[in-house]
Amino acid sequence: MKALVKKTPYAKDTYLEDIPKPKAGHNQVVVKVESAGLCGTDIKFYNTDMGKTKLETPVVIGHEGCGKIVEVGEGVRGLIVGDRVVCETSFYHCGRCLYCMTGYHNMCTNNRTSLGSKVDGFFAQYILCNADFVHKIPDNITYDEGAMMEPLACCVHAVLERSSIKPMDNCVIFGPGPIGILTAQVAKAAGAQVVLVGTKHSEKRLDLAKKMGIERTLVFDEINLMHQIQMFTSGLGADVIFECSGSEDALKQSLKSIKKLGEIVLMAAPTGCHINLWDDLVLRDVNIVSSLSSKTSSWRTAIALVESKKISLMDLISHRLTIDHWKTAFELGSSKECMKIMIYPNG
Ligand SMILES: [Zn+2]
Ligand SMILES: [Zn+2]
Repeated sequence: MKALVKKTPYAKDTYLEDIPKPKAGHNQVVVKVESAGLCGTDIKFYNTDMGKTKLETPVVIGHEGCGKIVEVGEGVRGLIVGDRVVCETSFYHCGRCLYCMTGYHNMCTNNRTSLGSKVDGFFAQYILCNADFVHKIPDNITYDEGAMMEPLACCVHAVLERSSIKPMDNCVIFGPGPIGILTAQVAKAAGAQVVLVGTKHSEKRLDLAKKMGIERTLVFDEINLMHQIQMFTSGLGADVIFECSGSEDALKQSLKSIKKLGEIVLMAAPTGCHINLWDDLVLRDVNIVSSLSSKTSSWRTAIALVESKKISLMDLISHRLTIDHWKTAFELGSSKECMKIMIYPNG
């Protein structure tokens, strides 16, 4: 089968190869991949020298995908050949540590492995999945939508499982990429009043967000952003801010725009940032929460949100390419001239 294989953890060194189709073992299923989403993480794996801890090479990359079950291994219950499914990124988790036992397998401390980094991922015609992490999708969810369930589940985890957001809260989201737009949609579905903030280079993305139902947007570097946020929040500052941009400036603006006793949720973060912890956080009783990946409950909610049309995903797709054109997809993805790029391993 065709598969996009990262041969070593070094930058580039990725090739479209012909590798054997996987076979389903105990409690595993083989899924024919119909759509696979290209994520910033895949582009980072491609462009950067990654340490051994992040990648176990050679490995098929891609961790966002959707398809149809073509083989079911022994011991699998509740799944049959032909089921349309999405799969969480987890492949192995211990099932016995404190985190696994309480539903947080994304925090498993015993050699957790994930699709597309340590175990073969979705940029291939077929993928082997752990049946414990496979979810059936209803007929009204397309394969393309299914392939965006992973980023949506991460946003559901941040908004509904990690933050303490409440209906009518004033909520500001920094970063209008796919994660920022999905986070804004989930916050809106939770009843919050939402403002999405981007830079002047991201005006196209802000326009797209408007089209997708996020009416209020602001441009970061154009006007006095803090003043605008104060106006939107009756002079108090935001109740909850989701930082989805990873930029130091955005984090600093978040600290200025949050109200006393407010909450900043980090879904992205700069590796280093000079902030005054005492003045900016302690004296104002501000909570900082972080959110990493997703868990099974996030996926269930994500699927229900799309099924009930509370979240729209299709407009996020800016490009569609077959796997033969994977290089173009990665170049487009690096240029930031796009939103979600869909790759079709089966043409
Ligand atoms: Zn991703
Ligand atoms: Zn565990």
